[in-house]
Amino acid sequence: MNRFAIARPRTAEEASALLADGRFALPVLKAGGMDLLDRMKEGLVEPDLLVDVRSIGSGDAIADAGGAVRIAATATLAEIAAARLVRERAPALAQAAADAATPQVRNAATIAGNLLQRPRCWYFRNAQFDCLKKGGHTCFAVEGDNRYHAIFGGGPCHIVHPSNLAPALVACGALVHVTGGDRASIPIEALFHAPDRGITSEHELAPAEVVTHVTVEPAPRSGFHAVKAKQSFDWPLVLAAVAVTVEGGAIAAARVCAGAVAPVPWRLPRVEAALRGVRPDDDAALRAACSRATESARPMTGNACKLDLLPVAIARAVRLAAGVERAEADR
Ligand SMILES: Cc1cc2nc3c(=O)[nH]c(=O)nc-3n(C[C@H](O)[C@H](O)[C@H](O)COP(=O)(O)OP(=O)(O)OC[C@H]3O[C@@H](n4cnc5c(N)ncnc54)[C@H](O)[C@@H]3O)c2cc1C
Ligand code: SF4
Repeated sequence: MNRFAIARPRTAEEASALLADGRFALPVLKAGGMDLLDRMKEGLVEPDLLVDVRSIGSGDAIADAGGAVRIAATATLAEIAAARLVRERAPALAQAAADAATPQVRNAATIAGNLLQRPRCWYFRNAQFDCLKKGGHTCFAVEGDNRYHAIFGGGPCHIVHPSNLAPALVACGALVHVTGGDRASIPIEALFHAPDRGITSEHELAPAEVVTHVTVEPAPRSGFHAVKAKQSFDWPLVLAAVAVTVEGGAIAAARVCAGAVAPVPWRLPRVEAALRGVRPDDDAALRAACSRATESARPMTGNACKLDLLPVAIARAVRLAAGVERAEADR
C-alpha cells in the first residue's frame, strides 16, 4: 500500500475543500473504509490523502424529517437496520441493510460508502486484469466467469451495481443531499449512470461533492429480498426491493427495483404495471406478474440462473411489503 496522509474534517464543507486542494494529487473520501481500503490493498487506487468523513459531526445518525427519514451519510448499516424509524417507515431499507455482508462489515460500513462503493467484478478487483473499466481494451467477463454479472443494461462493461441499499432507496423514493457542487440534492435514481455514459465511474457526483445525508420518503409497505449462494460473507445473485400501496386487499400501486442484475439499480415498470390489481396472497397471480421481470433480459454465458431467481426474489419482496410474510429479523 502507498503512503498517504489522513485529514479529519469537522464539516462536509471542509471535506469538500480538501478534495479540491491542489496540494494533493489524489485526495479521496474515506468512510468505513470497507471498500476503499480493499482497493488500496489491491493497488487499484493510490490516494495521497484520505479525508475521513467519520469525523464530521452531523447530529443524530437517523432522525425524523417531517415524516421522511433523514439518515446521515455516516450512519452505519447496523444503525439503519436497527433503527425503529427506518423499520417502521421504510422496512425495505432496514431489511436491505440487515441483509448486507457480515455483522463486522455492517458495523463499519456507512450508507454513503455503500451507495458509492466500486463494483465487485473480480476482474476489476484484480490489479492484473487491465479491463475496460481500468482503461484497458477488454471486458474479461464476456468470455470469462460472468455468473455474478449483468443481465440488463450491460455493455461494453457488464458490472452489476453492488449496493443493497440503492434499490431499496429507489423503491421507497429518496433524495441524496450533497455539498461542494452547484446543487443541494440528487434523486437517488439520478445518482448512478450506466457504462455507456462513462465507463470509469459509476456515479454522477462532481469531484468535490460530498454526500451529507439521505432523506427517505415514508414507504411503510415495502420489502426487500436477496438470493445468495450463501447467507453470509457473500454478494447477492439477484435482489429485489418493492414498495406497494394496497387498497381493498389488492395492490393499487407498486415501485419495483432489482439489484445485482444491471450496472445501475434497475426499475421494472412492466412488473409494476402487472402487479396492479393483484392480491398479494394470490400466489399464481403474483407469480405471473413477477415473471414479466425478465422479458427484456440478456443473460451472459454463465448467469442464466438469474432469469429464474429474479421473479422469485420480487415475489418474496412483494409478500414482505404487503405483510403476507414477515422478514426474518422480525420473526
Ligand atoms: C465480505 C463482504 C460482503 C459484502 N456484501 C455486501 C452485500 O451483500 N451488499 C452490499 O450492499 N454490500 C456488501 N458489501 C460491501 C460493503 O457494504 C461496502 O464495502 C460498504 O458499504 C462501503 O461503505 P464504507 O462506509 O466502508 O465506504 P468506504 O470504503 O469508506 O467508501 C466507499 C466509497 O464511497 C466514497 N464515499 C464514502 N463516503 C462518502 C461521502 N460522504 N460522500 C461522497 N463519497 C463518499 C469513498 O470515497 C469511496 O469511494 C460487502 C463487503 C464485504 C467485505
Ligand atoms: S465487467 Fe466491467 S469491470 Fe468487469 S471485466 Fe468487464 S469491463 Fe472490467
